[in-house]
Amino acid sequence: MTSPLLQTYARADIEFEKGEGAWLVTRSGERYLDFGAGIAVNALGHCHPHLVEALTTQAGKLWHTSNLVRIPEGERLAQRLVDATFADSVFFTNSGAEALECAIKMARRYHFAKGQPERFHIVTFEGAFHGRTLATIAAGGQKKYLEGFGPKVQGFDQVALGDWEALEAVVGPQTGAILVEPIQGEGGIRTVAPEVLRRLRKFCDERGLLLILDEVQSGVGRTGKFFAHEWSGITPDIMAVAKGIGGGFPMGACLATAEAASGMTVGVHGTTFGGNPLAMAVGNAVLDVVLAPGFLEEVARTGLLLKQRLAALKDRHPGIITEVRGEGLMLGLKLGVPNTEFVDEARANRLIVIGAGDNVVRLLPPLIIGEAEVSEALERLEATVAALEARASAKGAA
Ligand SMILES: *Cc1c(COP(=O)(O)O)cnc(C)c1O
Repeated sequence: MTSPLLQTYARADIEFEKGEGAWLVTRSGERYLDFGAGIAVNALGHCHPHLVEALTTQAGKLWHTSNLVRIPEGERLAQRLVDATFADSVFFTNSGAEALECAIKMARRYHFAKGQPERFHIVTFEGAFHGRTLATIAAGGQKKYLEGFGPKVQGFDQVALGDWEALEAVVGPQTGAILVEPIQGEGGIRTVAPEVLRRLRKFCDERGLLLILDEVQSGVGRTGKFFAHEWSGITPDIMAVAKGIGGGFPMGACLATAEAASGMTVGVHGTTFGGNPLAMAVGNAVLDVVLAPGFLEEVARTGLLLKQRLAALKDRHPGIITEVRGEGLMLGLKLGVPNTEFVDEARANRLIVIGAGDNVVRLLPPLIIGEAEVSEALERLEATVAALEARASAKGAA
């Protein structure tokens, strides 16, 4: 298959023409149950009527102005995010990596403005993923993403999650912040236990470090709370958000306390597209739904149901599924067979799931699913597992 697109993806040879709720439909009318949601992006499923209405109405009025003028839709969205979280201010971006870039720059600038420019180091954790820009691949620290791209951006020190001795050892007068995903997504749905997050918060407070949370994947209702850190009771100083916040429209945000943002003065950071009226209209529409009474409780309830059904599936097929992980509708299956084979077999059963590190497949369905979609998914997963088992035993017999 030749394509004019840069060959950086091993794409599946399938294309979809339209989407409806949790379903993707090919041109010939085949329906796939979408438990990937464009990697946790289509939080409200495909073509949610409220989002379509918000986007098309705004498209007929004004798309883009620039941040040189006031953008009322953005001020409204920022205020709603501030009201619903720990934050005092918001910077809008177009993507997760840009939200992280803002977070990293903000942390460095905070210490700079306090007269400690040497405190530009940020501690990150093994298995992390923070994006694909030069700074965020350095933050993520994964060799496969760093290789061949020249000297690694300085100032990121990585330790294993839960290795407190290593953390103590790496933190010094150069350290300004700790950056962590409450649940590692790309890393394989590895949950940071609430008590670990609380201990990290305390650790930061004792040493004057900023705590930066990357909630690009875990945020905006994914775990059954507006943000995943709410399960632990702590709050960060800075938080990166993206994926679900646009419901499919490319957007992100960096949220911060007034103190953490105190170094970000006029002219020190900017974006051409970030926070434009079109994105802001959609972002507000996403919040209309996600913050409506009862929505998050329903996500938590559906997530629990899905997790229970997956645990039962695991118990029936312990050779294929060895562990069920995650929170809410951010779930992972650790596998005894290669996850690439599982993803392909699931797709053959018209179920979209997504691979992750640590030989895990991720289930990241739209947050609007109910019991019917859970049952549909389980049927398709059962068929997937049966096919993989049959293949494994045929191989064993051969
Ligand atoms: C996807 C992701 C990013 C990067 O977001 P992009 O929009 O691809 O730049 C950063 N952090 C986490 C946790 C993610 O899941």
